Amino acid sequence: MPSFDFDLFVIGGGSGGVRSARVAASLGKKVGIAEEYRYGGTCVIRGCVPKKLFVYASQYSEHFEDAAGYGWTVGESTFDWKKLIEAKDKEIARLEGLYRKGLDNAKAEIFDTRAELVDAHTVKLLKTGQTVTAETIVIATGGRPNLHTALPGHELCISSNEAFHLKELPKSILIAGGGYIAVEFANIFHGLGVETTLIYRGAEILSRFDQDLRKGLHEAMEEKGIRILCHDIIQSVEKTESGLSVRTKNDKVLTVDTVMLALGRTPNTESLGLQAAGVAINEQDAVIVDEYSRTSVPNIYALGDVTDRVQLTPVAIHEAMCFIETVYKNNPTRPDHELIPTAVFSQPEIGTVGLTEEDAAKRYPELEVYRAQFRPMKATLSGRTEKMIMKLIVNAADRKVIGAHILGHDAGEMAQLLGITLKAGCTKDDFDRTMAVHPTAAEELVTMYSPSYRIRNGERV
Ligand SMILES: Cc1cc2nc3c(=O)[nH]c(=O)nc-3n(C[C@H](O)[C@H](O)[C@H](O)COP(=O)(O)OP(=O)(O)OC[C@H]3O[C@@H](n4cnc5c(N)ncnc54)[C@H](O)[C@@H]3O)c2cc1C
Repeated sequence: MPSFDFDLFVIGGGSGGVRSARVAASLGKKVGIAEEYRYGGTCVIRGCVPKKLFVYASQYSEHFEDAAGYGWTVGESTFDWKKLIEAKDKEIARLEGLYRKGLDNAKAEIFDTRAELVDAHTVKLLKTGQTVTAETIVIATGGRPNLHTALPGHELCISSNEAFHLKELPKSILIAGGGYIAVEFANIFHGLGVETTLIYRGAEILSRFDQDLRKGLHEAMEEKGIRILCHDIIQSVEKTESGLSVRTKNDKVLTVDTVMLALGRTPNTESLGLQAAGVAINEQDAVIVDEYSRTSVPNIYALGDVTDRVQLTPVAIHEAMCFIETVYKNNPTRPDHELIPTAVFSQPEIGTVGLTEEDAAKRYPELEVYRAQFRPMKATLSGRTEKMIMKLIVNAADRKVIGAHILGHDAGEMAQLLGITLKAGCTKDDFDRTMAVHPTAAEELVTMYSPSYRIRNGERV
């Protein structure tokens, strides 16, 4: 048996990397982990967490407006971007500390450096030039914003990374993209008082979500004052005296302070020594793995965004836990990517789990669709004209609920609980015999007694 410096070496200190390193170390394995930027990775440092803090900040403008309908007189309000950034940075530093502490307590060795593979068992730590060997290696290097270098003027644009550290809040912003990051930031900036435009090449934002919700959110965002340009893309960005001048494919010319590109993410596999180690990647530069997250080299595993399966924090963590079961607990476990509940922290929010109506119609001969659209109670006195949408997609053959989709306040929170019911295989009858919690918006999910319509062989009847 050759001897190695470590039982396990993890490259990347984000959601998946930290979880695999910490748990393996707590099982008594000798573990090393390297992170080139900050522990916590994308989610903690420049993803989910700071984004959600920004979402909260951006919601106050509506809270202040809504308060009047409930009898409050709110004095003149002002917003201080620098204060928000300072508070956010303090919280992120606290969380990063907790991640490091968790690793330290488990006795994993922490390296603050970029790491690259030299061969299947050797890792080079760039800060010191030192090489270390490990029996097993985990690649958990995540991804980064696609910089879109073919776009003339791309160097004048920002990505989500910079959005978390802008020195000043822009007066106007153009955000390119129709995915959840673009949509969330459009709502954040609008809520903070920035004149916001979203530009997206497709026919409708959020392409993988249920059509009803996409349309409902689009309308709600426009009603708030966010401009949405579909079927269009940025062709060039130029610096002028009055800001950035943007020309679009449809010959529109927009002048804005800031342009943010949210056009997808690229796996971090560049210069990682993958070829030297024999680790194969696909056309999108993602590490190719089998169903146990094992790469083309048997002792090297890859998990999280670098494998480009489902780019979400809980998925990276789940893949890490499956890796631990498989490699250190003699219990081969495949990550389960079915029925992943998820949210878009737009305003209104989206919460969803399971099949969209469109996908379910392709898969099952007959569906029952239960749909409710209503004004949430809070909006009555506030006078806001928002609508909530709730939808259950049911397979008529066995009455299983195969999709649940919500647009409105707390939709993300509801999606988490609906995720349990769908995972448990609950039927519509289980929903029907569940007592409502009154008065809530969620009670609508258990009080939609007859189908709004059916889909038979792909046709609405
Ligand atoms: C703006 C934004 C918002 C998001 N919001 C959500 C959300 O609301 N919910 C959700 O579930 N997901 C969200 N995500 C996605 C989520 O952040 C990722 O899916 C998750 O962080 C993936 O974890 P990971 O461990 O694969 O990679 P990461 O968390 O990206 O960690 C990889 C780490 O590896 C480091 N690294 C890279 N190369 C090297 C190297 N050679 N040597 C050493 N270190 C290296 C990087 O610096 C990074 O810290 C969001 C992402 C973004 C960008």
